[in-house]
Amino acid sequence: MEERTTTANRLNAATRRVEIFGDNVSTDGRVERLRTRAGFVIYRIGARVLPFLPGSLYLFADPTAPPRSPVEGASTQKIRSTQGAEKTGANETKSANVADLTAAKTNGFNAETTANLGGAPAIRTNPTEYWLIDAGSGSDESNADLESAFRTIREEFEPGFAPEKIRRILLTHSHIDHFGGANELRRRTGAEVWSHSFESRVVSSFNEQACVSNVRSFHFLREAGVDEAEIPGILDGFGFRPGRAKSTPVAKTLLGGETFGALKTFYLPGHSPGHLAFQLDDVILTGDLLLSKTLTQIWPSRLTPRTGVWNYIRSLRTLSRIGERCERAVGRKLVALPAHEAPIFDVPNRVRQVVRGMERRNGRLFALLEEAEEPLTTLEIARRMYWSGRPNREFFAISDVAARLEFLQQLGLISVANYDEISVANPALRFRKSFADAEAAENAVEQIFGVNGADDEPDSVERDANLGGD
Ligand SMILES: [Zn+2]
Repeated sequence: MEERTTTANRLNAATRRVEIFGDNVSTDGRVERLRTRAGFVIYRIGARVLPFLPGSLYLFADPTAPPRSPVEGASTQKIRSTQGAEKTGANETKSANVADLTAAKTNGFNAETTANLGGAPAIRTNPTEYWLIDAGSGSDESNADLESAFRTIREEFEPGFAPEKIRRILLTHSHIDHFGGANELRRRTGAEVWSHSFESRVVSSFNEQACVSNVRSFHFLREAGVDEAEIPGILDGFGFRPGRAKSTPVAKTLLGGETFGALKTFYLPGHSPGHLAFQLDDVILTGDLLLSKTLTQIWPSRLTPRTGVWNYIRSLRTLSRIGERCERAVGRKLVALPAHEAPIFDVPNRVRQVVRGMERRNGRLFALLEEAEEPLTTLEIARRMYWSGRPNREFFAISDVAARLEFLQQLGLISVANYDEISVANPALRFRKSFADAEAAENAVEQIFGVNGADDEPDSVERDANLGGD
C-alpha cells in the first residue's frame, strides 16, 4: 500500500483508476495515466500477458507531432484548467506537480480550439495518432485486457481516443509476451510494427526462428546434461514452438540511437539480442531490461548471440548513465517503467541492487562447485540452485545457470573438467572451479561488476521473474 501512494504521488497519476498494480498481481486491463515532467501523458496498461507473468504496455501520443502551443505560462495554465475541469474533473489529482503544467509543453492533450486563447495558434484536444510500446502476447486474456484498457482510456481519460488511432507499435524485444499480440493489433488498427533489426526475424518469421532455435536448444540442453528423451518436454514447457505466435511484417527496423521527435531509442542488449528502451522526457520504457523486484532472465550468449551476463551488465551500466544524464539535464530522476512489475524511481540504485543480486548468484554457483566432490553439469547446478518442481520453468533455470557458467568461464574462473571426452563422445560438459585463490577470484568478479553504495535490499532481488523463487 505504501508503494501505491508513493508511486502515484511521484508520477502524478490522476483519476480514480489510479492503482499501482506493480507486483505480480492480476492486472487485467487496468490503466494508469502518468505524466512526465514536461507534460507528456503516458498510459500504463496492465495485461495478463502470460499465465504466470502480468505485464505492462504503454501508450502515448505521437511523439513526433510538434508541440501544439507556443503559449507558455499563464495562457497554458488557463487552457489546462478550463479543459482539465471538463475532461478529467474531480479525478484530477491536485498535487503540486499538476500545477507544474504551466510549464508543460502541450503535446496534444490540451484544448481544442483557439476560441478562448486570444488568437493563439490552434491546439488539438486529442492527439490524432498514438504510439504503443509492446503488443502483449496475443493470448485471449492479453487481447481482452488490452481491449478493456482501450475502452477505459476512451471513456475515462480521452474521448477522442480509438484503437484505430494507434499508428506505431514499437517492440522492446521479440519475446512472446511482448510481440505475440502485434499481428492482431496491426490488423485491427492498421499500425506499423517496428522492432530492432536483430529481433525482426522472430517477429516477421516466427515459425522459422522457432524451428531454428529449437534445434539449437536441443544441443544446448544435451550439453547441459539433460537426458535426450526429456528434451522435447522441456522445450515444450518453454513454449518457443512453431504456431505459438503469429508473425507480423516489420515496417521499420531500428538499431537504437534513433530519435523520433521527443522519443529516443536505446540499444540495450542482454536480455535479448536486440532489446530496445524508449525515453520520453524523464521517463524511460525499459521492457525487460530492469525490473523493480526481480532479476530479469538471462541466457548464455552462445545460445542466443548478444545476450549473456556480460552484455546484460553493460546495458545496465548504460541505463545507469542515461539516468544520471537525465538528472543532470532536467534536475529530475529518470523514472523507469518496465514491462513487468512496478515503476523504478531510482534507476542507478536499482541497477546497483540488481548487479549485487547477480554477483550473489554467481557466488552461490561458485560455492556449489567448490563444495561438490565431482565436477557438475549445468543441469546438476540448476537443480541445486533453483529446482522448483515446475517443468515449464526448467529451460529458464538451465539457461540462467548456463549464462553464469559462461560468464565465469569468460573470467577464467571455471574450467571444463571432461574436455578430453567431448571430441569423441557427446557427453554433458562438466564444470569445476579453476581458481585456487578465492580472493583473487573475488577481485576479478568485483572488477567486472564494480558495485558499491547500493541501498542493499537482498529480499528484493532474490526472486526471479521466471523461476518464481529459488
Ligand atoms: Zn523478455
